[in-house]
Amino acid sequence: MKYCRNCGALMDDKAVVCVKCGCAAENEPSQKKAPSTLSTVAKVFMVLGCIAGAFCFLIPLCWTIPMTVSYSNAVKNGKSVSIGFKICALLFVNIIAGILMLCDKDGE
Ligand SMILES: [Zn+2]
Repeated sequence: MKYCRNCGALMDDKAVVCVKCGCAAENEPSQKKAPSTLSTVAKVFMVLGCIAGAFCFLIPLCWTIPMTVSYSNAVKNGKSVSIGFKICALLFVNIIAGILMLCDKDGE
């Protein structure tokens, strides 16, 4: 015997619909599919991705802030920044800021 997943009424194993509520019967009443190895591995990688994502978001602040500070100091003091700094800023801090720095011929 099995139970209706909708109303919980006892129903025949061969019943297609529940006689009480008319809900379609499940073929496998309570058998849950065991998670495959792949889905378990995928889940682990998802978790790792979340952790890596958190780090990738936090760690760049360790250089984006100093770079921003040193650039604003350079601008304030009328000093130019190296082309390497500009490219690093473009790649690792902000692409628009980097492009603006590279276009800023006065800064060279
Ligand atoms: Zn039912």
